[in-house]
Amino acid sequence: MNDDEDYAPVDFWTALFRGWCGRCPRCGQGALFGRFLKMQSHCPACNQALEPYRADDAPAYFTILVVGHIVVPLVLIVERYGQQPPLWFHALLWLPLSVLLALYLLPHIKGAVIALLWAHRIAAPKPSASGLDGPP
Ligand SMILES: [Zn+2]
Repeated sequence: MNDDEDYAPVDFWTALFRGWCGRCPRCGQGALFGRFLKMQSHCPACNQALEPYRADDAPAYFTILVVGHIVVPLVLIVERYGQQPPLWFHALLWLPLSVLLALYLLPHIKGAVIALLWAHRIAAPKPSASGLDGPP
């Protein structure tokens, strides 16, 4: 039941959407994460191995990119067209908004990155006793 032949081919955008929703990119049923950002080793529904698809720092990078492109224009708009509020107002408004946006987006973006890796079969090399497999 772990073979790809048992499942209909999944197009890239469907896999990406399933990952964004925190679901297995192959079956769309099993959860990608056991806890907030803790990836499952295998899909609980179809037993697809998920460990080889490691997102590393990419989700954090893309989350910072997206949050920055949302928050910074808002800050500039408030500064330009508002009553030039004091700095404490900015800190009180933008810091919690940035944190909440990042906490909301990070699992979605991590799921999408994992689905992207899965769709393109970009698996991390298996660790060996002497380090990573492959040429030195
Ligand atoms: Zn699955």
